[in-house]
Amino acid sequence: MSLLLHDVEVVPGVRVDVRVEGGMVSAIRTDLTPRSGERVVDGRGGALLPGLHDHHIHLLALGAAATSVVTGPIEAVAPALRGADDALPEGAWLRAVGYDEPQGPTSGGNELDRAALDAVVPDRPVRVQGRTGHLWVLNGAALRAIGLGDHPNGRFIDQDDWLRSRLPPASLPDLGPVAGELARAGVTGVTDATPAPDADALNAALQAGAVRQRVVSMACRVAPGTGVDAGPIKLLPSDEAPPAVEDLGAEITAVHETGRPVAVHCASRVSLVTTLAAIDDSGARAGDRIEHAAVAPPECVASLARLGLTVVTQPHFIAERGDRYLTDVDPDDVRWLYRLRGHLDAGVAIAAGTDAPVGRADPWAAMRAAVRRETAAGAVLGPDERLTPEQALRLFTNAPHDPGGPSRTIEAGAEADLCLLQVPWTVAREELTVDLVGATVRAGELLYAAVEL
Ligand SMILES: [Zn+2]
Repeated sequence: MSLLLHDVEVVPGVRVDVRVEGGMVSAIRTDLTPRSGERVVDGRGGALLPGLHDHHIHLLALGAAATSVVTGPIEAVAPALRGADDALPEGAWLRAVGYDEPQGPTSGGNELDRAALDAVVPDRPVRVQGRTGHLWVLNGAALRAIGLGDHPNGRFIDQDDWLRSRLPPASLPDLGPVAGELARAGVTGVTDATPAPDADALNAALQAGAVRQRVVSMACRVAPGTGVDAGPIKLLPSDEAPPAVEDLGAEITAVHETGRPVAVHCASRVSLVTTLAAIDDSGARAGDRIEHAAVAPPECVASLARLGLTVVTQPHFIAERGDRYLTDVDPDDVRWLYRLRGHLDAGVAIAAGTDAPVGRADPWAAMRAAVRRETAAGAVLGPDERLTPEQALRLFTNAPHDPGGPSRTIEAGAEADLCLLQVPWTVAREELTVDLVGATVRAGELLYAAVEL
């Protein structure tokens, strides 16, 4: 069954028809007429782009977040938990996400802990995750349930794997709604950035759900034939107290020996400095990448360029959290936050991911933030780091396995992973909003079409 995308713009200003057959683009001409039985999408001159690839996302957490209580700052935690406590059956675990942990020197004594949770929900096991994903706080009932009744404060930082082995198995989230939201945003592929020994849970959720996007996984073991591609292997050195350079270097070498590149999480200056020194020791491999590079001073950017590393960044954190960065982040680091132009000018390849559910799962918000660098309150953070709309788009249109590489092209013989906008690019580039997406095609299959089409 073929698909005809009628009257679309592949090159800005040039309107063509595009036929898709067998999962591939088969023809691009100005005069294609519909065949009998062929599905036709009338593009009305809208831009046809390569389907977007979100290079850093957490599918299972995003699916779970959709069924968890969302909290916010500490004042919002208690009412949210009380409401959920009333609604849940007796004895069921209450899982909450998105707790806004206060940062920096002003936070003293104002942190969520076991006692604070017990004051709100004393009887039911409760676990609350911090917004950045590093912190879990458990109440007394939860601690008792996992045999840690005498734990002093119930706070666990960067102990996800250890905690998970003790918690009751979480039911696998339904990824259907997540996949639907991604399709509405023009996303045809994702790289799941959750560090895991194997991709079993992800596979199981994918089998149950309706994810038709291409999925690349950073898990260590990805079983062949499951439809999940093996990507780089994620390493997660601590941002506050990174390991010794030699130890991290040995870990990187061990990953390289498996034939896969590394994707190293670096959300602080010190973790990036340590990681760069470690990669210098171990040697870089094609495809090695740094996730976030949240703080990248010039000497680090020079090393990134010299080592040929790709940075997978999150420009929308500027929009979502920029005002907090301005008050909480070390002033020496603020100008080096989530850099874009600085990387390109130094020859460092960049791509982007939403890091959802840590950030919103909207690549268009990320592109907009890359162009504007505006915080919610309207401050501009790092005006020299702004990209053009075309550069911002490219953060999401490079190949799934080559985030640092060139944008994919739409031509006969190319895989039909496509994102059709409802307006020409000259209009879209000024707005960069998700509601401009008119249709999403993955391997020739229509995943989404706006009603107007
Ligand atoms: Zn992440």
